Amino acid sequence: MKLHEYQSKKIFEKYGVPIPKGRVAATAGEARAIADELGGRVVIKSQVLVGGRGKAGGIRLAKDSEEAEEVATAILGMEIKGLPVRKVLVDEAANIDKEIYLGITNDRAARKPVFMASAAGGVEIEEVARETPEKIIKVHIDPLLGLRDYQARDIAAFIDLPRDYWREFGKIANGLWQAYVESDATLAEINPLVITKDKRLLAVDGKMLIDDNALFRHSDLAEMRDLDTEAPAETEARKYGLSYIKLDGTIGCMVNGAGLAMTSMDVIKLFGGEPANFLDIGGGAGADKVAAALRIILSDSNVKAVLFNIFGGITRCDEVARGVLAAMDEVKPKVPMVVRLVGTNAEEGRQLLADAKMITAETLADAAKKSVAASKGA
Ligand code: GDP
Ligand code: MN
Repeated sequence: MKLHEYQSKKIFEKYGVPIPKGRVAATAGEARAIADELGGRVVIKSQVLVGGRGKAGGIRLAKDSEEAEEVATAILGMEIKGLPVRKVLVDEAANIDKEIYLGITNDRAARKPVFMASAAGGVEIEEVARETPEKIIKVHIDPLLGLRDYQARDIAAFIDLPRDYWREFGKIANGLWQAYVESDATLAEINPLVITKDKRLLAVDGKMLIDDNALFRHSDLAEMRDLDTEAPAETEARKYGLSYIKLDGTIGCMVNGAGLAMTSMDVIKLFGGEPANFLDIGGGAGADKVAAALRIILSDSNVKAVLFNIFGGITRCDEVARGVLAAMDEVKPKVPMVVRLVGTNAEEGRQLLADAKMITAETLADAAKKSVAASKGA
């Protein structure tokens, strides 16, 4: 789950990272009032869940509250990379001397979190990583020991931070690390951390990604989810506890178990088809969950055929079949459906579905071949 800049910075602040004074506004009038409160120059920042807002014109300075209202009106009317701007952050403008990049993410290959920093902050860090990777330092953090003081000092030295800032920098680096760990984040990033003309360190931008699988123990973070910016199918899937990822192919897949879902997708590709989604209905899915899954699959207009590949263990095949029938009753699908049911109560399940004129298959290969053919109108 992505957090907005204003949400990420609020979290950073709790961990002692200095951020500019400011608040979020949904209307230009509110933006003006906040600018009035802050008294002076402000920066108006679109709150959309994409990077590079600055380059897209979604970050602008205003010299007073009147201009703040004008700028907010313009930004609130924008779309950035396809996302409508519904909120702006009005922050006290910083007088920037230098922009630094700081970020923590998981390095899967190293099986450790990695702290990254660069003196070439502000611009898109992906570009720096591509063109001048030697400008980025990467320091792996032992998850049991946490960020050590000497590591923070190594980072400060690498980015040529003047000594006067090292103590404060140590606090900020540690705060970012704590925020990352305690929020179960997969990314915590400050780009840029700036040195101001009056010689302070300030986190001007903030970004966090939270591990969806950890949200159950962070109700405060879970509440921050912005449903506006999420595909409706994904919202629906989460409501029913389904793992769903939309893809670009034509064969909708309903499968129980992540491994079986991956295998089904592979075998579809092997026989020349393209999966339209990854969908794991999980163990023990009842009829209502199956019906929701089918609705979600069929809401994708690219879907030309559906493959059900169910291994009945805890999930009983007859229960799945009843769910499929209930969903078909409701959504009246026009695309062909191929079913492979194996395991607990498979016979009953298959019988129920054969009666409903679905194409049945015995093996996974057979099911994949039949669904590929069906998706191509054969
Ligand atoms: P992003 O483009 O989505 O990463 O948004 P940022 O919040 O990082 O802003 C982009 C750029 O705008 C920054 O790198 C700064 O150069 C500039 N910027 C942001 N806030 C301020 C500010 O308060 N004062 C000044 N002078 N520039 C700012
Ligand atoms: Mn930024």
